[in-house]
Amino acid sequence: MSDARPHVVIVGAGFAGLAAARGLARAPARVTLVDQRNHHVFQPLLYQVATAGLSAPEIAAPIRRILWKQKNATVLLAEAQAVDAAGRRLILTDGALAYDFLILATGATHSYFGHDDWARHAPGLKSLEDALDMRRRILLAFEEAERQEDPRRQQEWLTFVVVGAGPTGVELAGALAEIARHTLAQDFRRIDPRSAQVILIEGTARVLPPYPPDLSEKARRQLEALGVRVRTGAMVTGVDEEGILLGQERLPARTVLWAAGVAGSPLGRSLGAPLDRAGRVQVRPDLSIPDHKEIFVIGDLAALEQDGRPVPGVAPAANQMGVHAAANVLRALRGAASEPFHYRDKGSLATIGRKAAVADFGRLRLTGFAAWAAWLGIHIFFLIGFRNRFAVLFDWAWAYFSYERSARLILSPRPARNDDGTLPPPGS
Ligand SMILES: Cc1cc2nc3c(=O)[nH]c(=O)nc-3n(C[C@H](O)[C@H](O)[C@H](O)COP(=O)(O)OP(=O)(O)OC[C@H]3O[C@@H](n4cnc5c(N)ncnc54)[C@H](O)[C@@H]3O)c2cc1C
Repeated sequence: MSDARPHVVIVGAGFAGLAAARGLARAPARVTLVDQRNHHVFQPLLYQVATAGLSAPEIAAPIRRILWKQKNATVLLAEAQAVDAAGRRLILTDGALAYDFLILATGATHSYFGHDDWARHAPGLKSLEDALDMRRRILLAFEEAERQEDPRRQQEWLTFVVVGAGPTGVELAGALAEIARHTLAQDFRRIDPRSAQVILIEGTARVLPPYPPDLSEKARRQLEALGVRVRTGAMVTGVDEEGILLGQERLPARTVLWAAGVAGSPLGRSLGAPLDRAGRVQVRPDLSIPDHKEIFVIGDLAALEQDGRPVPGVAPAANQMGVHAAANVLRALRGAASEPFHYRDKGSLATIGRKAAVADFGRLRLTGFAAWAAWLGIHIFFLIGFRNRFAVLFDWAWAYFSYERSARLILSPRPARNDDGTLPPPGS
């Protein structure tokens, strides 16, 4: 039987797309949620998977399960390739979907500032696959160091560079330092994991650039107390399997992790709407795009200024945009005019390590244990709805007392070696 209800297609089941789908639960419309993966990922905890603190299913949930009660919603596992805005069709790699309203929420990808060849040697962190690849590289680096005869090579394997000191870079560097100083400290015979170097590179003058300067300074001190070497004002000019280049200076390191740049998902380009420098779609105040009031772009893919400042690419903004786009679709279905979006900034938090974090809630600024406790509470709270919330709580409690990391598995065989005994970069 044909269904005469208007068809709302949402692409992307991240924070923004899911919020939009849920916001349309009572809409007199068919809702189709398209994602290239079958699961929603809680991205703020990806670094925990990358550093073996949590396992992948603990921070993800099947999209079908999340929406199983919402009868007007259908979930489609498919990759969107382009939008035919004039023909009101979403082009998939294997088919097409006609829509009356389209909500695009495909997020962002890594940006290597025009040097995509660096990606091979310096992976970024966006998906569970990325996190598992990072975990493998980190754990393998210690294994390789243990096998090296040459002390110089050994030190190269024990040097970890994190590029970009935003929240993700800071979290990764802090967790790596803890792994080296505590988790693995007793586990090897030929190397001392505590001699590992973790170097955090930042192009601007301070770590956590969007935070107030005093919190940036406190974050830097907390990182240094953990044993992380922080280098600010340092621009990476090259990356290969042997390390990175900072202008004329070569920094030998066998593990380089990228947490520096983001670019809007490539799907945004096919809309024909204006993009900002990072490839995000410049939306109108109601989150629709020029000349197409039936297309909304939300979450990390949307570029919007409010009170002279860009709305940040964070989970609360994506959530709020999803709710708002759904409300505007409901208005349009009633024949009412759409309304502008207003971002409500509830503050920012970045964790650095055990009992170390910074929090900026406007007038209230926290550091150290208080910020860390707030970070923990908020992340557990937002995992509500996931079956594994208790598993995460248990793992963290265990890790707190034991320094153990429960997901320390290398899931593929150790790769073949080069003639000189070194490892080819993973994925080669
Ligand atoms: C490592 C990391 C740590 C972070 N930490 C924090 C934090 O502590 N606090 C915070 O507030 N924010 C944090 N963020 C940012 C936050 O996660 C993002 O702002 C938020 O996820 C954006 O939501 P979104 O729905 O726009 O996109 P995403 O969550 O990225 O979702 C996009 C979805 O679209 C799907 N998709 C993409 N392309 C296609 C396609 N062509 N076809 C079909 N499906 C497609 C993807 O599979 C994905 O499910 C972090 C981000 C990362 C990567």
